[in-house]
Parts: sequence; C-alpha cells; structure tokens
Amino acid sequence: MQLKTILNRVEPFKSFVYGKVEWVEGTGRPTLEVEVHARKNGRAICSGCGHPRPGYDRLPERRFEFVPLWGITVYFVYALRRVDCRSCGVTVERVPWARGKCHLTISYRWFLARWAKRLPWDEVASIFHTTWRNVFESVKHAVFWGIFHRDLDHIEAIGVDEIQWQRGHHYLTLVYQIEEGMKRLLWVAEDRTEQSLRSFFQFLTAEAQQSIRFVCSDMWQPYLNVVAEQLKEAVHVLDRFHIMKKMNEAIDEVRRSEAARLERDGYEPVLKHSRWCLLKRRENLTAQQTVKLTELLKYNLQSVRSHLQREDFQRFWEYTSPGWAVKFLDEWCVRTMRSKIEPMKAIARSLQEHRDLILNWFRAKGKVSAGSVEGLNNKAKVNIRKSYGFRTYNVIELSLYHTLGKLPEPKFTHEFC
Ligand SMILES: [Zn+2]
Repeated sequence: MQLKTILNRVEPFKSFVYGKVEWVEGTGRPTLEVEVHARKNGRAICSGCGHPRPGYDRLPERRFEFVPLWGITVYFVYALRRVDCRSCGVTVERVPWARGKCHLTISYRWFLARWAKRLPWDEVASIFHTTWRNVFESVKHAVFWGIFHRDLDHIEAIGVDEIQWQRGHHYLTLVYQIEEGMKRLLWVAEDRTEQSLRSFFQFLTAEAQQSIRFVCSDMWQPYLNVVAEQLKEAVHVLDRFHIMKKMNEAIDEVRRSEAARLERDGYEPVLKHSRWCLLKRRENLTAQQTVKLTELLKYNLQSVRSHLQREDFQRFWEYTSPGWAVKFLDEWCVRTMRSKIEPMKAIARSLQEHRDLILNWFRAKGKVSAGSVEGLNNKAKVNIRKSYGFRTYNVIELSLYHTLGKLPEPKFTHEFC
C-alpha cells in the first residue's frame, strides 16, 4: 500500500490530490515531503469571500507540517495560487488543510491541542519535536474555535468562584455551569472586581441571561452586587462549599496566631503540623491524625474550639426545612458570638448578614448539583498548579478554557489521537 492511499483515507480533499512522496535528507530527523496538486479544472477558492474565482498567478512552494507518522515528520508541499476576485481583488486561495499564514496544517493543530489537554504543553512540544509556541498557538486555535461554536442557551444554574493564581493577591473570577447533566467552565476574567463578573453578563445574549434561574457564589461583596444587578429573577445561593471554605480560612487564621502565641510563651508547639487535623472532617482523618486531634483536644485551645464549632455547623446542611435550618443557624451564631474567637465571630456576623441567601440553599435543593462548584474549583487549581511555567494571564486563561470548558470540536474524517 502506498502512503498516498493512507493519506486519501485519513485526510481526503475534494479539489486536491496527493502527488509524489519523498524523503528529505539532511534535516537531522526523518522527514517526508508529500506533494499536493490542485485537480485539473478545479478553480481556486478566494480566501476573502469563499467563491471560486479565476486564477491570477502562483506563489512559491510552501511547506505545511502535517501529523507525524511513526515518528517521521510529514510536510505537505504546495504552491498556493492567487485569484483575481471581482469583490476582493487579488487574494490568495483558500485550501482545506491550512488557514492563513500558519505553517501547521489544521489536523496537526488539533492533534497538538488534544495532547495539550492531557499533558503539560512543554511535554507535548518535546514529544512531537515541535516548539512550545506551536503548542500554544494550537491550543489558542482550538479554544477560539470552541468558544465561537459553543452553545450558551438554556443555562439554568451557574456558580461564581474566585481562585488565586499567583503568589500574592492575584485572583481570577471563574463562572461555571453547574447542572446535573452539564458541568463546565463558561468564563474566565482577571481579578475579582464587579467588572470581572459583569464581563460575563455582557458577553451573554439577553435570552441566555434570562434562562439562568440559580446562581451560587461566596460572600464576596462585588459578586453579590453584580448578581443582584444582573440576575434579578434568579435564586441566589450562598453555597455549602464556599461557606465551609470561609470557615476553614477562619480556623486556619485562629490556629496560626495561636501557634505563634504558644511558641512565644514557651509552650509545646502542639499546633505545628496540626493544620490538616483541624481542617479535615473527623471521618476523613488518618489514624495518626486522629491521635494528634485527641492530643489537641486535651488543651482547651481556641483552634480546637473553632474546629468543634465548624463540625457542629455541618449539621446545618442536613436540614430539609428552611424553617428549622434558620433556627439552627441563629443559635449557632449566638453561641459563636459568645466564643471570643474573633475570626469565627466574623464568620457568624457575615452568616447573619447574608441569612436569606444562605437559606436559598434549601430552596434550590435538587436544582443545582451540590458538589459541582467544589469539583470544578479543584480541577481549576490542579490546572493552575500544573501550568506553573505560565507567567501571563492569557496563557492561564487559554489553559483553563481548554481543559475545563468542554468546548466543541469540528468533525474529522479521522481521529489522529
Ligand atoms: Zn473574494
């Protein structure tokens, strides 16, 4: 069987045929060049308007890199025609395997982009003997295509999340779709200001915006403001994941300042390495951590007491009736306000302040998929950690859309990977 037969099977073109296939010597890597010819009588297509137009002249031959075969680099070689178009003037023809000035074929770009979903980009570049830049451009192409072709109608529930992405206070605002059948990243914006979130609604059509009935977020004021302004009819839920996250941050703060104080006063550093015992739920502790927690419980420390308050609060989420839940919430807040533990008191105050939005959790039960903000948040964090080499916002944005956006892809004759 000839290579041409294989190519016609995996990458057939209507108006072009494959010609001679030759080894290229002296490149350091095994390389094949495949000639491509236009079919006789086939008229070139104007790249401006997409209509067949009479030929004008031919440009010098160009090489287009194709998907490698058995570790062999493959190039298509073709001299592009220019056409004389009555509406666009003299333009270069459109060919089915490549776009614009890009020297990678479309199939190769999708090939690299798909691998970049599974592996770090520099690894993809090294495995396929290409540059990081080519992988980046391929992902960019895939993301733009996917965003242009994705369907944003009929989104019912969204989750708004903030995530830290560099040392210091650099945040991203992420918007997810969080329905049972469809969990995906919809939007990434820099920072966590009102405008960060508002940019998402500016992007949506009015109908798409109206279809949103539930929105989950944390207690970050700029988000609360924009949700109130943009989604007047939707039920706004302060969700379990975000509230427990805030509580964990408070416990961590209590533990850190207490550990520092104990050490200063010359006590045993019992709180060192105890972070995970305090932050984990009791049933998730390992045997060793349970011993540590038992040891910690002997001291009547603020950290331990805030841990117990947090454990106590978990019961809140198990209520089914908002009436009983609110009774519990109020009592919990009263107990916590008496505790003299400042970070926990701050939590209690903000829970009281946003009481209605928290109770919406019970009203929205079953409508939003409970663990989904947490699941997507974890995936986004892993993605950011893996891409530690990424310095710029643009790259992290592309990478997040690429791995979490569930973006559509075109139909191919052949799946190369
Ligand atoms: Zn034209």
